[in-house]
Amino acid sequence: MIRFVDPSTAWYEDILANHAEAAQALVDDVLADTERDGNGCLVTATVEPRKVRFRGSQDRAYRFVHCVTEGLAATPHQVVRHRCHNRRCVNPEHLVIGTRADNLRDEWDRQANGVDFNLL
Ligand SMILES: [Zn+2]
Repeated sequence: MIRFVDPSTAWYEDILANHAEAAQALVDDVLADTERDGNGCLVTATVEPRKVRFRGSQDRAYRFVHCVTEGLAATPHQVVRHRCHNRRCVNPEHLVIGTRADNLRDEWDRQANGVDFNLL
């Protein structure tokens, strides 16, 4: 039986099955290279959400941190969301898996509340 697997999902499946220790070491590096703010966020010193490169592919650092920490090979339909609304935050405790619809709803909430999310 042939199962279609998205390349990034296959990448995470391989990482989790075969390279978990190296991936965790990279997560530790990412977490160490942050500043903790007043909300408990671990914020990367980058303008855009940081990216990480690992075994020939790359992803956003917060997504990588969540997938490796939770042992989850996320599909393209799943997005890693920030409870804290800070997209440069990589604190595993602030990250939660959701759907694209959840993410859109977050943005609508932010707009409705008058928050300029371009600054987030
Ligand atoms: Zn945070």
